[in-house]
Amino acid sequence: MRFDDKVAVVTGASRGIGKAVAVELGSQGASVVVNYHTRADSAEEVVAAIEKSGGKALAYQADVGDMQQAQGLVKFAVEKFDGLHILVNNAGIIRDGFIMLMKEADWDDVIRTNLKATFNCSKAAVRLMMKKRYGRIINIASISGQMGNPGQTNYSASKAGQIGLTKALAREVASRNITVNAVAAGYIDTEIWEDTPEEAKERLLGMIPLGRSGQPEEVAKAVAFLASDDAAYITGHVLAVDGGIVMH
Ligand code: NAP
Repeated sequence: MRFDDKVAVVTGASRGIGKAVAVELGSQGASVVVNYHTRADSAEEVVAAIEKSGGKALAYQADVGDMQQAQGLVKFAVEKFDGLHILVNNAGIIRDGFIMLMKEADWDDVIRTNLKATFNCSKAAVRLMMKKRYGRIINIASISGQMGNPGQTNYSASKAGQIGLTKALAREVASRNITVNAVAAGYIDTEIWEDTPEEAKERLLGMIPLGRSGQPEEVAKAVAFLASDDAAYITGHVLAVDGGIVMH
């Protein structure tokens, strides 16, 4: 197995992309902390799925936008599984609206959950990883942070911020054998889209060269690659998993 003896923390792993990442890493041998915010039952289902595949997992409730709770999450991984090798900053929300109508709270919540949480968890994890001279940090960013999306000034800013953080941190910790990369996901079938108007989803679908939305498992495969030893010489990279929407 690729991740035997590795401990992974996946934030926002009760459903969607985080769930798929947790199951992928767990099924390949990692001991996984399944972080969730509100859905304890769903997180326990993810734990059960990992255990069924032969892996080890535990659920842990934390609002990762809060520094102390993020530190608690990392501490839990170390206490229960004796280390932390892989951190996947996946937890995220959308609160869409055109800027003139966007409430200040919608701006603050999105920046806090998507960007500050990435800072919080990375800060807590890096201290440990530096001591052990090993680490893999993968941030789940978005094409919205690369190309901008109308109605998403908050979300696009948070995701562009994650990409900047990824590159800066990659340079800070590279000498300690820690890699930091991002996955810029496109239109992936999850609950995050449930309040998005159909016409906006149709518009996005029409922009995808591969002509379909993506599945959470397709993002999970990219994350597993970046977390693996096969990606040891890749850092500060933003890997597109978007059906070809953004091509540099
Ligand atoms: P989702 O299905 O809505 O799941 C969101 C997850 O984040 C849930 O597990 C939720 O936990 C967790 N979460 C929310 N706030 C949290 C907090 N404060 N602390 C801890 N966990 C929290 O979303 P998704 O589509 O899988 O998105 C996952 C990530 O991928 C996000 O960062 C998103 O921006 C990014 N992304 C998604 C797409 C897409 O098309 N789906 C595209 C690009 C990027 P509970 O269920 O326990 O509340």
